[in-house]
Amino acid sequence: PKRLAVLTSGGDCSGMNAAVRAVVKMGIARGCEVYVVREGWEGLVRGNGPEHDVKETQVHSGTPSTADPIPNRRRGNFVATYGEGELLKEGEGEQTLKDRYIIRVGWDDVRGFASLGGTLIGTARCAAFREVEGRRTAALNLVKHGIDALVVCGGDGSLTGADRLRDEWPEHLAALKERGDISAEQFETHSHLNIVGLVGSIDNDMAGTDMTIGATTALHRICEAIDSISSTASSHSRAFIVEVMGRNCGWLALMAAIATGADYMFIPERPPTSEDWQSSMCSVLDRHRKEGKRKTIVIIAEGAHDCNLKPISPDEVKDVLTERLGLDTRVTTLGHTQRGGAPAAYDRILATLQGAEAVEAVLEATPDKPSPVIGIQENKIMRQPLMEAVKKTQDVAKAIAEKDFNRALSLRDPEFED
Ligand code: ATP
Repeated sequence: PKRLAVLTSGGDCSGMNAAVRAVVKMGIARGCEVYVVREGWEGLVRGNGPEHDVKETQVHSGTPSTADPIPNRRRGNFVATYGEGELLKEGEGEQTLKDRYIIRVGWDDVRGFASLGGTLIGTARCAAFREVEGRRTAALNLVKHGIDALVVCGGDGSLTGADRLRDEWPEHLAALKERGDISAEQFETHSHLNIVGLVGSIDNDMAGTDMTIGATTALHRICEAIDSISSTASSHSRAFIVEVMGRNCGWLALMAAIATGADYMFIPERPPTSEDWQSSMCSVLDRHRKEGKRKTIVIIAEGAHDCNLKPISPDEVKDVLTERLGLDTRVTTLGHTQRGGAPAAYDRILATLQGAEAVEAVLEATPDKPSPVIGIQENKIMRQPLMEAVKKTQDVAKAIAEKDFNRALSLRDPEFED
């Protein structure tokens, strides 16, 4: 059977677990042996200690069963604390999984994953993977485990890394054979690496897909927070400036503004048309007040700027509201509360459908076809060339930096019209 691995990389988001679960279950249903790689690219570079390599390739359940494919593994070992490098909670599991990053999993291992936030198999930023030597070590670890299909869930950086690994694969294998790290037989049987991307990003910033995994949940978190803030704003007749995530993409800010009926917002793709944005903003907010509103909510994306690309900060907006309109104004930066928590139903569904599609895509992949990334367009799960989508996404940032805002929007959505 084909050996397939799944990893999560870059910033975490809600729905990554549902994606991992779908890949694992669909992989098993399609007759694959499935592995998870803990801690993103970092785990793939670290691999497993030599004492684990042999044992792991023998562990096998193969079909849906109640048998635990990892010896001594208690249920719940994957219940993780995020961001500290060492994943596991105390107990037996820690010993079992310590220094093991590439782990064979069975049907039961991902039970309950769909409803949990973050990524239980861990994610990391990995400097080593940016270097050729790091990617070569990652290639060696894949070959050692007989894995030749990889599903990666992450942002554009993680997916670029995936594509580079696939691109360089023949070189890596030749070098590893030359060094004697892999046998001639391994060299022959692992001549190609199939890669498929899933986009995990709360910003909804990937070109060519209507929605990324995690964006809907983040939007829900933002709306809940703004609803809470609105109580105080109305009670005290205050103004609140709410900063939300989104560096080159104002989707969260825009949708939150619509959903909460905010008074004003700033997003990177549609900066204020005049340098004197303060006056335009004040005239709108003043009118709302005069019409009887007791609260003022201004939403600002973290990447917001004026028409000359000078950043607009929440504190600057606060000062304008305080000084010009005499409003009692507070700033709330939502920060990482936006990123975590139980995934919204839509993210669970999106991640599950896309995870299943990723397995089909990885099994159908051939060396002559570019790696695909799974997206959704007009409510249909689809595939598109991974690097095309990533490049367009990176071009959005360039277009914004060149003040070509319409181009930025049409790169993300080909049907965009000004
Ligand atoms: P987010 O949108 O949350 O930032 P991301 O996937 O874009 O997610 P990055 O930090 O850019 O996050 O990338 C995650 C990891 O992917 C990096 O730590 C690195 O290991 C790998 N990576 C990123 N860019 C490249 C690249 N150009 N070449 C090789 N590896 C890369």
